[in-house]
Amino acid sequence: MIAKVIVDISASDVDRVFDYKSIDGVEKGSRVFVPFGRQNIEGYVIGFTEHTDVPPEKLKQIVSVLDDRPIVSEEFLALCDYMTARFHLRKIDVFRLLLPSKMRGGKIKALEKTSVYIGPDYIEQDPNLFIKKSAHSQMEVYEYLLDAKDADQSYLNANFSAAAVRNLISRGVFLTRKENVLRTPYKNIVQKDNAVTLTDEQTAAADTIMSSDRPTLLFGVTGSGKTEVYLNCIERTLKSGKTAIMLVPEISLTPQVMRIFRSRFGDDVALLHSGLSDGERFDEWRRLLTGAARVAVGARSAIFAPLTDIGLIVIDEEHDTSYVSESNPRYITRDVAFFRAEANGAKVVMGSATPSTESYYAAERGKYTLVRLPHRVNKCEMPEIQIVNMCKEVTYGNSGMFSEPLVTALDECLKAGNQAILFLNRRGYSSFVMCKKCGYVAKCEDCDVSLVYHKEENILKCHYCQRRYAMLDLCPNCKSSHIKQGFMGTERIVEQVNKMFPQARIIRMDNDTTRTKDAHLKLLGDFSSGNADILVGTQMVAKGHDFANVTLVGIIDADMSLHFSDFRAVERTFQLITQVAGRAGREQKPGKVILQTYTPRHYVYRFATAYDYEGFYTKEINLLQATGFPPFTEILRVLISCENEQTALDATKLAIDRIREISSEHVDDFIYLNAMRAPKKRIQTKHRMQVLMRIKPEREYIRSEIYKVADEVIAAFPQITCFTEINPNDLS
Ligand code: ADP
Ligand code: ZN
Ligand code: ZN
Repeated sequence: MIAKVIVDISASDVDRVFDYKSIDGVEKGSRVFVPFGRQNIEGYVIGFTEHTDVPPEKLKQIVSVLDDRPIVSEEFLALCDYMTARFHLRKIDVFRLLLPSKMRGGKIKALEKTSVYIGPDYIEQDPNLFIKKSAHSQMEVYEYLLDAKDADQSYLNANFSAAAVRNLISRGVFLTRKENVLRTPYKNIVQKDNAVTLTDEQTAAADTIMSSDRPTLLFGVTGSGKTEVYLNCIERTLKSGKTAIMLVPEISLTPQVMRIFRSRFGDDVALLHSGLSDGERFDEWRRLLTGAARVAVGARSAIFAPLTDIGLIVIDEEHDTSYVSESNPRYITRDVAFFRAEANGAKVVMGSATPSTESYYAAERGKYTLVRLPHRVNKCEMPEIQIVNMCKEVTYGNSGMFSEPLVTALDECLKAGNQAILFLNRRGYSSFVMCKKCGYVAKCEDCDVSLVYHKEENILKCHYCQRRYAMLDLCPNCKSSHIKQGFMGTERIVEQVNKMFPQARIIRMDNDTTRTKDAHLKLLGDFSSGNADILVGTQMVAKGHDFANVTLVGIIDADMSLHFSDFRAVERTFQLITQVAGRAGREQKPGKVILQTYTPRHYVYRFATAYDYEGFYTKEINLLQATGFPPFTEILRVLISCENEQTALDATKLAIDRIREISSEHVDDFIYLNAMRAPKKRIQTKHRMQVLMRIKPEREYIRSEIYKVADEVIAAFPQITCFTEINPNDLS
């Protein structure tokens, strides 16, 4: 038999199927070791054949099978074909998504414990018959085991003579037994039946989700009890003997959320997220593969959970940008979910308080079933959002970053013993360094993006390549010493709050303070247990946390995300405001939101303060239609990058010429087509060019033509990197 194998090397010229002579134990989907070049590497068997074009003397043989069972199912093989075609990916890059990364290359294995016990023939006998008088150490460990019945070999080695243990094992006096030990996160959370009784609204929502023949969009305001609806649907799914996948944005995978799942589903749930150790992640994944766990909860990549017979896929916070992978392999989680749902006959529910215009539009057009949860479970009012015009503050002589109303509200909040959240849109975004005299802005020499000032280290840093630069004393351009460090960053806010309220305890949460594993969970835990009065943070404080004592939310500069060069900027701003506002007054205490802006008359603020999602949606969808953006078009981008600028230019020229030919044959399908430098002209010394197009949506044939062009360009210029993207979140 000839096995068809995909080898674990991510390079375009090996992105094909290789033939190998099969060996015993190899099945379709097996992970195997194969000789490749001068070494052995991992690969995946995707099928078998009788014939090969490889001459017999050149045909190599599979070296060994790596796992006790095939790990790539038929469904995954089909998914791999679908993803490579839809997103223009290398097969191996898709395969790599299917396994925990550390498992590849044998870096991590099941944790095994060796248990030692006395062989039955030696228990009743006089030990002097088989242990010499002089062998005191052997007698010691024998007597210990006689008493203890069995023990971990590593324990015996550590507490007795390892040589004695080895000797007794080799003579058959001691027998050993290997046992798998599972590293389970949140293991000590006991399962308790804390199911709530659903409201009528929630029950109706769950009924619809479980009976709809289309995906369901669950549009429920913050605090409307969407999580309980998901839990209920998962329970029903498990009862019917099927499995479930629940996706949440990475940032919302808080201990709170994980506890809820563990305590509701016990060992039936496997948690997959970046905070786990490699061992934990591997074991959780194994439990899903072997059927020991039937619910996978995790971020984007949990959509690849090795479950069979899936009955339900939940995508919570469906509008969240983290569901689109923005580095290789680039894929859209929703599309993968739909594929798996189709393959398994599973239900899909996507939930949000602020659905993406794309999803709401699809629901309006009948592609999804729309279910609303318009009321909060606890009947609390949504907090009032007060808009503060920062331009007016400046005319009053206040040019700082805190308006008078925000300071007053903070003061009242702290005096009452409540907690506050201060939200800053995107970390470091404006903490660039600028010369006040000539306008010079410090940029990274390699990446052409503004450097960010890091006060704690007094250095400038590039956030794309991490290159560090000394802080400027003089402007390199005009020699002026009037250097202004951008006025915003979470550090600056903390500094200001400290000045105004020296006694307040503050927690800062941003990419800097949450770099280590679990740091972000720890900070949130500290805040919710009352160890701080004010939480200052970026996007990561906005998502799904329930803090009973928070009565004030301050949005420091709401405009920040409004002026991004991105067609979804306004939508993102609306989502952010709604989400952050949802953090105030979750329980009995009424909450208040203060929103500072330099453009108070922008329509996004009018709708956001009125909590009018539908009003906002209507305005936005009309604008998108008028301007020809998704969902009315599909944005396709071919991104070409290369160290050599001329090569990048030549490759881009070839791409645009070929695509122009395609567009001349399909004039009606192309709304926009052009080639240019990418907004970030360079990243890590690579020059970046792009061909940007907008085409009519769902034109599969055009997409595949474009992908062929990309392949052609890669073949002609092997030294370039070339990616294609569909409706990317970030066009930088
Ligand atoms: P959402 O995800 O829609 O923002 P949650 O699911 O977090 O809302 O629910 C908000 C709060 O209401 C949670 O504390 C949850 O435990 C509680 N809750 C939800 N449903 C019920 C119910 N049927 N009865 C009592 N409490 C509920
Ligand atoms: Zn200057
Ligand atoms: Zn850089």
